[in-house]
Amino acid sequence: MRGAFDYQSGIMLAIRDLTKAYPTRSDDLVVLKDVSLNVDAGKSVAIMGPSGCGKSTLLNIAGTLEPPTSGTVTIDGRDPFTLDASALAAFRNRRIGFVFQEHHLLPQCSVLENVLVPTLIAHDGDDVVGRARSLLDRVGLSDRLEHRPAELSGGERQRAAIARALIHQPKLILADEPTGNLDRKSANIVADLLTQLHQEFESALVVVTHSKSLADRFDQPFDIRDGQLQAQ
Ligand code: ADP
Ligand code: MG
Repeated sequence: MRGAFDYQSGIMLAIRDLTKAYPTRSDDLVVLKDVSLNVDAGKSVAIMGPSGCGKSTLLNIAGTLEPPTSGTVTIDGRDPFTLDASALAAFRNRRIGFVFQEHHLLPQCSVLENVLVPTLIAHDGDDVVGRARSLLDRVGLSDRLEHRPAELSGGERQRAAIARALIHQPKLILADEPTGNLDRKSANIVADLLTQLHQEFESALVVVTHSKSLADRFDQPFDIRDGQLQAQ
């Protein structure tokens, strides 16, 4: 059942009139003001803007990691902020894949084990190991399955992080400066993988980046200026 009032077929992420303010000792710090955004299944959005403009805040709210001050977020037809904490955690684990600037792989686990971590939280009956192996093959790491993260290059670590983010075939993929620590060649490979895989999975993709050339590769590039989204 579709819970959201404004759900339309094809829209995977809908943000409506989102405002985010952090309380400070004097005034509220308003980071985002009346931001609205639709991202369809299989489509991608890039978000640019100077440091501190609210890019990570927007991504974290879209990723259900923090609530908006006002406005609504609808993911795959549901408002996740109406769920209780454990249902929200399950929703996030299943439907949202996160890729950060830092890979956040577990250092003591192999590449294959790292990709399987989300399936320990929400196990599904099908062949998760087979799926992990085939994803690692897709990101070019099939001969690195038993490596520890410290034994990988930066680009390889980020490719492993992408495989982990996609193990549940999430409806929404959120990437916060995923190529920020990479050289140009590795950055291009990571960007290629994100664009190919989100289309294959028909996921919505939102990527925060400082690179104009990277942003131009996604369907809709935006800037955040004065707390508002502006199409480039
Ligand atoms: P960006 O990712 O664009 O660099 P952020 O979204 O991380 O920026 O932060 C936007 C603004 O919100 C910054 O000025 C930051 O200091 C402030 N901010 C972020 N998180 C918090 C928080 N939890 N409490 C108070 N202020 C915050
Ligand atoms: Mg940030």
